[in-house]
Amino acid sequence: AAYYNNETILWLNGEFVKASEAKMDFYSQSLHYGYAVFEGIRSYKTTGGETKIFKAEEHFDRLRNSARAINMPYTWSNETLINATYEVLQRNNLDNAYIRPVVYAPVNMSFVKNDVSYIVIEVWEMAPFFGEKLLRIMTSSFQRPNPKAFKITAKASGHYVNSILASQEAKANGYDEALLTDMNGYVAEGVGANMFYEKDGKLFTPATGNILPGITRATVLELCHELGIEAEEKQITLAEVKDADAAFFCGTAAEVIGWESFDDIPFKKNWKETVSRKIQQAYSARVTEADIVVEA
Ligand code: PMP
Repeated sequence: AAYYNNETILWLNGEFVKASEAKMDFYSQSLHYGYAVFEGIRSYKTTGGETKIFKAEEHFDRLRNSARAINMPYTWSNETLINATYEVLQRNNLDNAYIRPVVYAPVNMSFVKNDVSYIVIEVWEMAPFFGEKLLRIMTSSFQRPNPKAFKITAKASGHYVNSILASQEAKANGYDEALLTDMNGYVAEGVGANMFYEKDGKLFTPATGNILPGITRATVLELCHELGIEAEEKQITLAEVKDADAAFFCGTAAEVIGWESFDDIPFKKNWKETVSRKIQQAYSARVTEADIVVEA
């Protein structure tokens, strides 16, 4: 995938810079130790023809909270960053895009705190997915990081070595993606998405504590409330997921994407006949600001 070319512009510490000319320091703690925080955000072309960043405030709030959780200085207002993001999108002629802000550390090979952080906002084209495909999922041999070892609610770069290992393992075994458990063996989340399963018309999702509490997960819970679909956050076993009528991942990049099978066990219901599918449609409508929420 071409994330950038010779013309691509990014926003680097307040300046619009060509991606091909942007520089960072090889002695940064971020490169050596994974000491950085980031966001994954999407913009969509709405049905009204505008380019809208979905839940921009929530994402930049989380970026600030992630930075504070790992003691990185953070000096930017949401307003500054959201305005910069819209301008980066415009300068790159993008509407349906993925937006990747990264807050990173200066030169420092020790473990002591810094008095400054740096920030970059990169954008690249990403078509809405709106999940026509269904995924084959396996239980990962890797568990999510123990929240006593990491600030698990922070979207910190170093945590994603765990995601890379789990994703590569799933693909090497012929699956589309992995589901990871927490340190106690309960269902946690995917490598870059939260999960829900459906049973008897009700949705269940792992409670917070050992997961990244996703903004899409919160949106799904909002949609359940609006559509009168029952939803519960609780501790979930792998056996419950295997016995489910349906399941899906949800995340900014993944949107709402159904599962075809879990550890080779197909789900009991046809995806098209699930309330999960209704949530998928409602999510697509929400991000594009479409009037019609769910097809009859
Ligand atoms: N869990 C993990 C580990 C993730 O990386 C992501 C993506 N940020 C999510 C869940 C979903 O979060 P969101 O819906 O905010 O994108």
